[in-house]
Amino acid sequence: MKAGNTGKSKVNLPLSGRVVAAYGRHFEVETAHTVYSCVVRGKKKGVVCGDQVEILPTADGQGIIETVLPRASLFYRSEYFREKLIAANVTQLVFVLAITPTCSLELLDRCLIVAEDQGIRSLIVLNKIDLLDQYPEGQAVVQNLLFYRELGYPLLEVSAENNARSLVPRLTGQISLLAGQSGVGKSTLLNALIPSARQATAEISDALDSGRHTTTHARLFHFDANSSMIDSPGFQEFGLQQLDEAALAWGFVEFRPFLDQCKFRNCRHISEPGCKLLQAAQEGMLNSRRLACYHKLVKGIKKPFS
Ligand code: GDP
Ligand code: ZN
Repeated sequence: MKAGNTGKSKVNLPLSGRVVAAYGRHFEVETAHTVYSCVVRGKKKGVVCGDQVEILPTADGQGIIETVLPRASLFYRSEYFREKLIAANVTQLVFVLAITPTCSLELLDRCLIVAEDQGIRSLIVLNKIDLLDQYPEGQAVVQNLLFYRELGYPLLEVSAENNARSLVPRLTGQISLLAGQSGVGKSTLLNALIPSARQATAEISDALDSGRHTTTHARLFHFDANSSMIDSPGFQEFGLQQLDEAALAWGFVEFRPFLDQCKFRNCRHISEPGCKLLQAAQEGMLNSRRLACYHKLVKGIKKPFS
């Protein structure tokens, strides 16, 4: 992909395209023929990697994003006062964990909840499986993740440095968002699957003079004609302030059979009498760590503007 248009035309008709990179207030928008370097008109905020947009080309290779088309999905996190859009129109979350560094399962839970809320399928990837003998604590990670497989989430064990291509069938036909804590091997996976990604990452690091080849901005890479991957910066924290109690409960897939069975229709499933979810937990039908996670998230909902 080459940035810039070589034509000399001054045609100012709007063009449809897709945001393939977002760096603060600058965006790269890929149209049928070329990639435009774009800014957003006025003070409009909230353009994100993966967005379908209409742009008005200005000078060669430059453009202004005029319109953001409706999104099929929006993956974002939201802390108390701040929203952080991550990617739009993805069809699949690929959440990467590793044998080392181990990742908090709560971060996984939080991302799965957002995916469920947005109707995005999820794939869990356990990377660095080659290190299992060296890091016995990795056994606990493997065991913990088997629980998610029982919930119905596909789980793949890989070694990004050796067999990343075992992921290929799962990526075909999808717009996948790569997510997970820093250091779990997301860049290694991406580079193994899409060799041109390495070059792009290096160029971005140079341009930003960061000197580090870590992802600081979301970027979309084509895998094949129908498949792409969005690489997002690693995150440690992942606020869910955008979700209400019902959306949080819905995000725990194993809770669903109980949610409309409670005595009170607006049951929060915390300590209400006649709560079928709590009853199921008492009967050992639910994982207590996940229930505790739900309670923590519900109690963490803050309403700053009310
Ligand atoms: P990111 O922060 O998630 O993008 O992680 P990186 O791709 O930068 O990987 C972090 C470190 O883990 C690097 O030193 C990689 O070489 C290493 N790494 C990545 N995948 C594997 C793997 O499958 N096996 C082993 N042994 N190391 C890996
Ligand atoms: Zn209840």
